[in-house]
Amino acid sequence: MIPGPFSYYRPTTLADAVKLLATLGDEARPLAGGHSLVPMMKLRLATPDHLVDLHGIAGLKGIRRDGNKVVIGAMTTQHQLLASDKIAKSIPILHETATVIADPQVRYRGTIGGNVANGDPGNDMPAVMMCLGATYHVIGQGGERRIAARDFYQGAYFTALETGNVLTAVRIPMPPAGHGYAYEKLKRKIGDYATAAAAVVLTLSSGKVATCSIGLTNVAETPLWAEEAAKILVGSSLDAATVKKAVAAAEAITAPASDARGPAQYRTKMAGVMLARALERAKARASG
Ligand SMILES: Cc1cc2nc3c(=O)[nH]c(=O)nc-3n(C[C@H](O)[C@H](O)[C@H](O)COP(=O)(O)OP(=O)(O)OC[C@H]3O[C@@H](n4cnc5c(N)ncnc54)[C@H](O)[C@@H]3O)c2cc1C
Repeated sequence: MIPGPFSYYRPTTLADAVKLLATLGDEARPLAGGHSLVPMMKLRLATPDHLVDLHGIAGLKGIRRDGNKVVIGAMTTQHQLLASDKIAKSIPILHETATVIADPQVRYRGTIGGNVANGDPGNDMPAVMMCLGATYHVIGQGGERRIAARDFYQGAYFTALETGNVLTAVRIPMPPAGHGYAYEKLKRKIGDYATAAAAVVLTLSSGKVATCSIGLTNVAETPLWAEEAAKILVGSSLDAATVKKAVAAAEAITAPASDARGPAQYRTKMAGVMLARALERAKARASG
């Protein structure tokens, strides 16, 4: 299919991009890697009149450390994330997640900012960002807002972004040394979106769970932060009975659609299976 007509802009400063987006209004969209937006335009599921390409703006790319946080520029590609030693060492769940996003071609163009701003519950990074307690930097004509990933997602393709906003960076607190982590994703084939997926980051102390955070992908209209399920696990040795309770609590907050990836009940169960597997791998990786 061929997209509808649109005008194309390539500003070279963030201020110009924000001004353009605000002036052009609701029918304008930022363009990052284009690997969600352009397919949607080709299917005529998105029909923006104006695209504001963010590639000409210096400073939106790169990975830097800021105290005990890692700040990733919105236009950093999934490929660049995978190539980063800093990420592999300090926040390895991001590396693991990037390896199961699409395929190398998509990862060469697709950006971290586009992945988290898109609002598609099938995107893998949002649940991981919720799990990690990340914050998004968003700029508009009124200045900068910092929005917790856990507060950002409001419905399928509805986020806290407002007309004229650009997400400029993602700020992630580094999990403590020795933490355990895993991203388990069930997909029908390489390159597919998740039927269900679970992200876990935990720490152990004397063999018991000291802290735990869980995110779930593609089992509701938004990514989910499974707060209750994680609370159940704290203080436990991740024994089978407690894991079963936590899995039930996580399954209880899901509300997936029945679609080509399976009926809703199956996808809920698969979220539970992915969580149990992620907990097992995270435990094996954690020291302490
Ligand atoms: C074949 C295929 C398989 C895929 N499989 C997966 C998968 O398994 N898992 C997964 O997570 N993704 C998958 N994707 C999607 C891919 O990861 C996209 O790259 C990503 O969802 C969007 O990033 P982008 O940079 O391409 O954004 P774009 O497509 O350019 O933009 C997406 C949306 O976000 C908005 N946007 C982008 N950047 C910003 C910004 N900085 N500020 C404000 N708004 C912004 C755009 O206006 C648009 O609405 C797949 C894509 C393809 C084509």
